[in-house]
Amino acid sequence: MIRKNLSMGRRHGWLPFALFVAALLLPLAGCDKRADALIEIGGPTMGTYYSVKIARPPASMTAETLKPDVEVVLDQVIAEISTYDETSELSRLNRNPSTDWIPISSNLYDVIAEGQRIALLTDGAFDITIGPLVNLWGFGPEQRPDALPSSEEIQVARARVGWQKLDVRATPPAVRKARADLYIDLSALGEGVGADRVSALLEARGVADYMIAVAGAIRAKGRNAKGQPWAIAIEEPMPDLRSVHRVIPVSDRALSTSGDYRNFFERDGKRYSHEIDPMTGAPVERNLGSVTVIGESGMVVDGLATALMVMGEARGQAFAEARGLAAFFIVREGETLRGFGTPAFQGYLDR
Ligand code: FAD
Repeated sequence: MIRKNLSMGRRHGWLPFALFVAALLLPLAGCDKRADALIEIGGPTMGTYYSVKIARPPASMTAETLKPDVEVVLDQVIAEISTYDETSELSRLNRNPSTDWIPISSNLYDVIAEGQRIALLTDGAFDITIGPLVNLWGFGPEQRPDALPSSEEIQVARARVGWQKLDVRATPPAVRKARADLYIDLSALGEGVGADRVSALLEARGVADYMIAVAGAIRAKGRNAKGQPWAIAIEEPMPDLRSVHRVIPVSDRALSTSGDYRNFFERDGKRYSHEIDPMTGAPVERNLGSVTVIGESGMVVDGLATALMVMGEARGQAFAEARGLAAFFIVREGETLRGFGTPAFQGYLDR
C-alpha cells in the first residue's frame, strides 16, 4: 500500500493528460539520445490527445508517413462510435426511432457487444445506455446546464436507461432497442478501442516495440529505446496537480485509468464527476479517485476501469479480486492518498 501526503505544493501543469503521460515517458523511458532510435508522434483526437512512441522502427517508417495513417485509424473510430459527431454511425443509430432490429457494422457491433458483456458482468454498474444521464449532467456533447438537474429530470432520464433494454445480434450484426429513445454512449470504451486499432496498424507494419496512449488508454508492446519495459505513469488523482503517484513497467499489455479528477464540475463545494451510477442516476460520490486496470485489450480495460470507478472501492476491489483482474485503486483519505493493487497487479508494483 502506498500513502502520499497531499499537502505538497500544488504545481500547475496544463498539459492535457495524454501529453502529460507522453512527456513523462520521454525521460522515464530512457529515450535514447539518437533520434533514429525512436519515432514519436501525437495530436488531438476524441476531445483529448493521443501519442505514439516507436522504438527501433522499421527502416522505411518515418513520423511523417506514420502520423496521417494513425489519424485515419482514429478518425475511423470517431466515425463509428462518437456521440460528438452527428454523422457517426452511433449518432445515426441513436437517432433511429425503430424498435426493430437495426443493422450495424461489425466494428460497432464489437464495441456494443463488449459494453453489454461488461454490463452483465457488473450487474449493470457499467451501462452503455447511460447516455441520457451523461448528457443531463452535462458530460456529453451538449452544453452543460447551469443548474443541477431536478429529481424529476433525473427520473425521466433514468427511465430511458437500462442495458437490458438493448439487444445485440452478432449475425448479421444488429441491435434492437426496447425504446425508440434509447441512447448509447460508448465513451467509456472508445479510447481503448482507439489504442487497440492503432496497435493493430503498427503490428501489421512490422513494429515490435511501441507505446500508444489515447488519453488514459494505453497499449505497450515490447521494449523502449533502452531495451527496458515501457515506464507508465499512474497520476495522482488530484484535479490541478500534475504529479506521478507511481510508475510501473509495462510490456505487451493494455492499461487504462479512469478517474473523477479530470472531467468534473463543482457546485456549492461538491464535486460531480462524469462517472454516473445507473442506480441513482447521478455522478458517483466516492473517495475513490482513480482505478487503473491492466489486461490484454484496450477496449476491455477501458470499460472495466470505468466499471470499477462506478462500483467504488469496496465493491470494485471484491469484483476485481474475484476475477483475478490486475487493478490499482487510489483512494483519497483526508489529506492523504492510499494506493493499493489487487494480487494480480502486485507484480507490476514489485518490479
Ligand atoms: P472513462 O472512465 O473511460 O469514461 C467515462 C465516460 O463513460 C463518461 O464521460 C460517460 O460518457 C461514460 N459513462 C459514465 N458513467 C458510465 C457508466 N456507469 N457506464 C458506462 N459508461 C459510463 N469529448 C469531447 O469533449 N469532444 C469530442 O469531440 C469527443 N469526441 C469523442 C469521440 C469518441 C469516439 C469518443 C469515444 C469519445 C469522445 N469524446 C469527446 C469524449 C471524451 O473522449 C471522453 O470524455 C472520454 O472518452 C471519457 O474517457 P475517460 O477516460 O475520461 O473516462
